[in-house]
Amino acid sequence: MTAEGTPSRERNDFIRDIIDADLASGKHKAIATRFPPEPNGYLHIGHAKSICLNFGLAKQYGGTCNLRFDDTNPTKEDIEYAHAIERDVRWLGFEPSKVLFSADYFEQMYELAVALIRAGKAYVCDLNEEDIRVYRGSLTEPGKPSPWRDRNVAENLDLFSRMRAGEFKDSARVLRAKIDLAAANMKMRDPLLYRIRHEHHYRTGDAWCIYPMYDYAHPLEDAIEGITHSICTLEFENNRELYDWVIEHTGVPCKPRQYEFARLNIDYTVMSKRKLLQLVKTGVVSGWDDPRMPTIAGMRRRGYSAAALRAFCDMIGVAKNNSVVDIGKLEFCVRDDLNQNAPRVLAVLSPLPVELTTVAADASEWFDAPSFPEDIGKPGSRNVGFTREVLIERDDFMETPEADFKRLAPGRTVRLRYGYAITCTDVVKDASGNVVGLRCEHHPESLHGKPVADGRKVSGVIHWVSAKHSVPAEVRLYDRLFSAKSPDEGDGDFLKHLNPASLATTTGARVESSLAGATEGRFQFERLGFFCIDVPNKLTSGDTSALPGSKPDALIFNRIVSLRDTWQADAATDKTAAAPSAAKSENVKNKTRPKSKSPAEFRAEARERSPELKAAFERMQSEYGLTAADADVLSGELPLAQLFVDAASKTNHHGSVASWLVNQLTRERGERELSEIKLTPTALASLVDLVEAGKLNNQAAKDVFAVLVNEGGNPADIVKARGLDVAVTNEQIAAWLKEALAENADKAAALLGGKTALLGFFIGQVVKKSGGRADPATLNQLLAGPLASLLA
Ligand code: ATP
Ligand code: MG
Repeated sequence: MTAEGTPSRERNDFIRDIIDADLASGKHKAIATRFPPEPNGYLHIGHAKSICLNFGLAKQYGGTCNLRFDDTNPTKEDIEYAHAIERDVRWLGFEPSKVLFSADYFEQMYELAVALIRAGKAYVCDLNEEDIRVYRGSLTEPGKPSPWRDRNVAENLDLFSRMRAGEFKDSARVLRAKIDLAAANMKMRDPLLYRIRHEHHYRTGDAWCIYPMYDYAHPLEDAIEGITHSICTLEFENNRELYDWVIEHTGVPCKPRQYEFARLNIDYTVMSKRKLLQLVKTGVVSGWDDPRMPTIAGMRRRGYSAAALRAFCDMIGVAKNNSVVDIGKLEFCVRDDLNQNAPRVLAVLSPLPVELTTVAADASEWFDAPSFPEDIGKPGSRNVGFTREVLIERDDFMETPEADFKRLAPGRTVRLRYGYAITCTDVVKDASGNVVGLRCEHHPESLHGKPVADGRKVSGVIHWVSAKHSVPAEVRLYDRLFSAKSPDEGDGDFLKHLNPASLATTTGARVESSLAGATEGRFQFERLGFFCIDVPNKLTSGDTSALPGSKPDALIFNRIVSLRDTWQADAATDKTAAAPSAAKSENVKNKTRPKSKSPAEFRAEARERSPELKAAFERMQSEYGLTAADADVLSGELPLAQLFVDAASKTNHHGSVASWLVNQLTRERGERELSEIKLTPTALASLVDLVEAGKLNNQAAKDVFAVLVNEGGNPADIVKARGLDVAVTNEQIAAWLKEALAENADKAAALLGGKTALLGFFIGQVVKKSGGRADPATLNQLLAGPLASLLA
């Protein structure tokens, strides 16, 4: 077992309690577990829970864990599945102590069955399956004995060996345990041990035509391997009595014990292999590794990392009661992992060409762009090429911008991420009036976050690529496969709940040239989401996946997950309207989506999912003295909580740090991810200190804050560069006010005539004259007191 596979678990669960007790009492010196999949399909995320549990226990307690193929049923099993399963277990980060096959124990199991017959504890029964069922009785009526129950040992031995020799047809006879036909537990009413199946077995070939039943085989497999704790899911609770009977009456020396835990169910998902096989067979999905499948192979192809799946299994824990887990928890773990590990790149999914008329036709410039935002603290950068023709996201331009649209429009200025600010001068249209391109001017002085010389307002920062220094890509926007929360519910026809928008393909995307020729990798396409190079599962039957994968010269990307939880957070963040069209499909999705939650509900849920956020929420109140309301707003997403804690650790004014983030950041941030803004914890802390020390008035501080968010830097430099540090004297203010009164004689007269509403106008004039240095609140005070005479 690799160290990587160990969950960072601190809490205990009932299974660990049992193991602790067994080790303490000396019942076991070491523990041995197993993961026993039947190779009749690919592993799904439910199996991952069982894998993390069994292998995780072995790792934690220094024991062993076998991967054992429970291949006692020849009809559905296949070597392809066995290979895929082993690969998935290793990919998840676990190294089996041994890889074993139940079929290798057939001879041993047969011998033990013969011994049971000899001991009078098993008999050959000639009833057909239907009669056996009828004879068995019901929960309210005891069963009645089969006419063959009292066959003598010699006859039983003879018939059983002839069963093995292939003398009888399928189902003609079975071997049954002789237990108790009146048992309350139906499983104990003379259960089947062997049945006849003239089938080719993928491992034993035609060596056998009788096959052991699960309830007989499983305890023996465990015993043969010396398993101490045989962990299975709750639906096997009733089988435990039979499990113990087999162990006891076959007299095997090892006495494993069975424990049951709740199987994993996830909403918006189906999880049984039978149903997954149906999805594959009917072509609803492209194969077991289709990126929408809840299989491990599908999730790997989708771009989920093993670490994210382990973190998820760790988060949900192990319990005894069945429940349905919110799929948002899984997506949360995936997003959290990607945020830390996926380098940022620029890509445009639906390009709109922009000609920069102020850039020479043959000019090429390269910007050094960091692969990770500062708060992630990881090294690395790449060059992003800039030329006269750039491509921007079609949705980042609106000819007639709506009220809250913060990006490009005619006459407006936006900043190209890592590059220049540009101003839109012309809209290019085709004959039918569709916008087919833009002409813009760039502001050469604005590189590296510097302001535009004429002080014009920059509406936002958008992503882009150079037409020349970018490569084409196909992008597959994946979403949940089902739009119903419980696709299995109702009449069970889960196929009618398929989400029609679970895959939307766009072929016209362009990605920055650093991705040219890439063969693998996960990335954040800035402002769009997390994406990976599509790599099909090499083990899918045949080489021709119905869904071809990426090639170095024909890139294909999968959307792993959006930047935030769009299924729950739409209303909460009110940002979908402004979200770049990364996913047109998201609009379709809205219709089938459950009722959206409020921001507060969304944050509460985020804390439910993340122990880290929950701890931050507590700590903000206990350690930093925030109100519950502020702590709530700041602990709905990890980067924000982190930003607060980091900044608060650098200043004594914790409440101030909180109020800047709660009030001002929300305003300045717009639709951006926190990773996209430039504000650092250090900068925020020094800004707070300047304000608290009375060195900067509120209005000026807000301006500085805006610069810190949009362009970065440190407050002291910005204050100096803008002359904001010069204290504005009352005399200076008086002079400005006099000027303003003189320039607006009519209004001045009206004000003096009692129209006090005009006070605000004059305050505005003074603030303007001061270049933002005069603080309206201070002005208000001055006008009520010392400067009142000027108004008289
Ligand atoms: P399915 O019902 O999906 O076909 P299964 O139980 O038949 O699954 P197996 O290959 O027999 O699949 O399972 C191997 C191991 O994985 C068993 O120990 C089983 O209990 C466990 N397992 C299967 N599904 C889940 C699940 N949803 N949650 C947790 N453990 C699971
Ligand atoms: Mg099974």
